[in-house]
Amino acid sequence: MDQETKVLLIHVANTAKKGPRINLIPMGTFFIADFLKNKGIKTQIIHENLEKQLDNNFSIIKHIKKFNPTICCISINWHQQSTSTIKKILEIKESFPSLKIVTGGFTASYFAEKLLREFPSIDYVIRGDAETPLYKLAKNTDPKTIPNLIWRNNKKKVITNKKTYQISNSILRNASFTNFKLLKNYQTYFEMRMNTESENNEGIFYFSAGRGCNGNCLYCAGGRLAQQKFNNRNSVFYYPIPFIISELKNLRKYKINTWNSCFDPNPYSDFYIKLFKEIRRNKIKLTHHFDCFGLPNKKFIDDFKATFSQKSALNLSPETGSETLRKKIKSFYYTNTNLLETITYIVKQKMNCSVYFSTNQPFETLADQKKTQQLLKEIQKISPKIEIYNQKIDLEPGSIHFENQTKLFTNSFFSSNFSPKVTNSSSLKVSKA
Ligand code: SF4
Repeated sequence: MDQETKVLLIHVANTAKKGPRINLIPMGTFFIADFLKNKGIKTQIIHENLEKQLDNNFSIIKHIKKFNPTICCISINWHQQSTSTIKKILEIKESFPSLKIVTGGFTASYFAEKLLREFPSIDYVIRGDAETPLYKLAKNTDPKTIPNLIWRNNKKKVITNKKTYQISNSILRNASFTNFKLLKNYQTYFEMRMNTESENNEGIFYFSAGRGCNGNCLYCAGGRLAQQKFNNRNSVFYYPIPFIISELKNLRKYKINTWNSCFDPNPYSDFYIKLFKEIRRNKIKLTHHFDCFGLPNKKFIDDFKATFSQKSALNLSPETGSETLRKKIKSFYYTNTNLLETITYIVKQKMNCSVYFSTNQPFETLADQKKTQQLLKEIQKISPKIEIYNQKIDLEPGSIHFENQTKLFTNSFFSSNFSPKVTNSSSLKVSKA
């Protein structure tokens, strides 16, 4: 066991008054921490906002002094947390000039070279999957040989290594997403509100059953093209069903009864039918909130109902009432008639359903917005219990829409139109059960 190498992973929430709070730690952080720990590296996750809630006098600087890490990782996954995170990195580097600071996550991957050029306080960016690259970095391997790494050489030149590492089944065998004890004060974490709009304080396991997506919705940075470009992911990677079952079983230890998932990259495949069958066979009792990328069919809805608690819900995202606009912006298209029939079936099965719309979409017109209002009323007529949300969508770095808007952006990370656009993600809830 190597006691000398220590890795500290810090989560920085969005501390600005506007935008979502981003209290949620990206699930990959837990997996990476467990992966490093299993390789003999002392690893800890710190949620700065949580620590401050527990202790007004908490100081990340004092904590770093005490933990004395070899390397400090601060992810910039969601763009809304980027300003707060970069400020924190600058603060840490000022106190510990020789401490290696690495960042990663989706937004950092997108802006990797720019981050290194503009912020000398950031030493490394890992683009895409990070388990093995971070391990090598922590073990002081020659940066030239570390896949997915962006770094500076002795002449301060930014070097972009090849993106050749991706998570695989062999890596999955070596770690878990559910070793929550690696997070300091993890019990309190599960009581935290994760976002501005959520009132729910019950422990929720946010976990996707794989990585990637086959869709390319214009407004989303998690689609296939973005994943290819920034994460070198050419196809969807599903975690093996036995692995997922083992992770869900682990939740019992922590008394977590709710699982939220946002991974439905092939809406009409039988992957979830097989997974749900195994969940039932293993008698795993959970409430599940499932984000449907397309429209679920009757078999899926029936199996979902048979597998999870009555409090579970299917979340549908038509985005707009305009079929023409939906066809343009959303990959897994369906008609309004399909949508209303599906909602009617879900309601008939006495199941819960939430429906998500958004405004500020590319190509959206006033006429489209009127169609959304019309559809919204038709959904309300099916049942007043259906939860309907209408939210302003952000311009998301890495999305096709963002890529097409690059003329709006200057060369500077901060001075670009990027920062002012990081604003309103708050949801307007239209109706409540
Ligand atoms: S919004 Fe579209 S592209 Fe993004 S993850 Fe969902 S289905 Fe895939």
